Amino acid sequence: MSPSILLVDDEPFQLKLLARQLVNLGQNSVETCTSGQEALGMLDAQPTTRWLIFLDLNMPDMDGVKFIRQLVARSYRGALVLFSGEDERILEMAVRLGQAHQLMMLGHLHKPIQPEVLQILLGRWSEQMSEMVQEIPRTYGAAAVQRAIANGELVNYYQPKVEVATGAFVGVETLVRWQHPDDGLVFPDRFISVAETHGLIDALTRVVLIEALAQARCWRDAGLALRVAVNVSMDNLLQLDFADFVLDQLVDAGIAAQDLILEVTESRLMTDLRIPLDVLTRLRLKHISLSIDDFGTGHSSLAQLRDIAFSELKIDRGFVHNANQDNTKHAIFSASLGIARQLEMKAVAEGVEDRADWEFLRQQDCDLAQGYFVAKAMPAAELPCWLLEWTGRYAALR
Ligand code: C2E
Ligand code: MG
Ligand code: MG
Repeated sequence: MSPSILLVDDEPFQLKLLARQLVNLGQNSVETCTSGQEALGMLDAQPTTRWLIFLDLNMPDMDGVKFIRQLVARSYRGALVLFSGEDERILEMAVRLGQAHQLMMLGHLHKPIQPEVLQILLGRWSEQMSEMVQEIPRTYGAAAVQRAIANGELVNYYQPKVEVATGAFVGVETLVRWQHPDDGLVFPDRFISVAETHGLIDALTRVVLIEALAQARCWRDAGLALRVAVNVSMDNLLQLDFADFVLDQLVDAGIAAQDLILEVTESRLMTDLRIPLDVLTRLRLKHISLSIDDFGTGHSSLAQLRDIAFSELKIDRGFVHNANQDNTKHAIFSASLGIARQLEMKAVAEGVEDRADWEFLRQQDCDLAQGYFVAKAMPAAELPCWLLEWTGRYAALR
């Protein structure tokens, strides 16, 4: 069965135009409807996950938002693209609404519709379709994660952090991976929250930290003075002995406290801060650096900045990638950088994905950069080779 595209717009001329553009891009199964009601009738007659709907937000009877409600009520599993002549920010807001409902949102189009943008969206659609075919379980059970920790199946990957002004390689962030015996390399989004909710995060963090410090020692012995960052979740900070554990490990590995950064993310709201504040204050007293991760998202907020003496602020990638061409991201990025400056924290931009992002950081005078443009996370053994490659690439960048 061939997947079908469904266009919903009250303006017949617009419908025809978009249908023609899609046919020109090689799509031969395009249906059109001039109202939401008509479109729902078509979906009900052919319920399949292979639909791609292009939805106009502004329609007289049932507007796009009401139509989205109807899709959610039908547990629609196909893809969705929104378009309208409205302000870009309203379109983006409607996309977020769809995402919040877990709909497969491919993006949005601003009228008049550019064929190049249409082509990009169609590319995303075919990617998503092929991923759907090979979908594997999203998360693992607690017993499996516990076994992984006990059997030493967790491995550390390291992602370089470089100075924007000089390109110098100054540190790494440790990102854990699970070398699963059957499923291959498993990413943390599929097991960290399981570990957090089942009391396993403490054991996990300890394994990751010990390995990262041993690695830091090896790098120092080889003449590479890198600062090593390790992610800790708020649940780690609920153990009163956590600070002592970290300090003991530093001594064992022969690493100075200044060379360890703990990146803190608060994935859920902490109401009682007594134990975390005790632990964090002691860590700071011993000169271990604290970094506020994913700043500006979730509970990684201004209130945390007020309460905790962070030494580094990581601007979430949602405000970094493409910030040069998006006024909202640009504004949030600059404000975050301003806060970092005023509070004398180092600012790290996460998710630096391309040359344009890099140039933006240079122009903004951000301290450090981390992201695919510089390097993806990699096993420790691959770092020397990357460094050689980066040194050459950076020289050409200037
Ligand atoms: P994070 O600490 O914010 O780490 C950054 C994530 O962004 C990493 O994903 C990294 O691979 C990814 N990333 C880096 N550069 C780019 C880029 O240019 N573009 C995009 N789109 N992504 C980029 P990863 O490794 O999948 O880790 C996801 C999250 O899992 C981490 O987010 C962190 O919160 C958590 N995590 C990883 N390791 C640990 C750990 O040992 N302990 C705890 N508690 N959490 C961990
Ligand atoms: Mg992090
Ligand atoms: Mg982050």
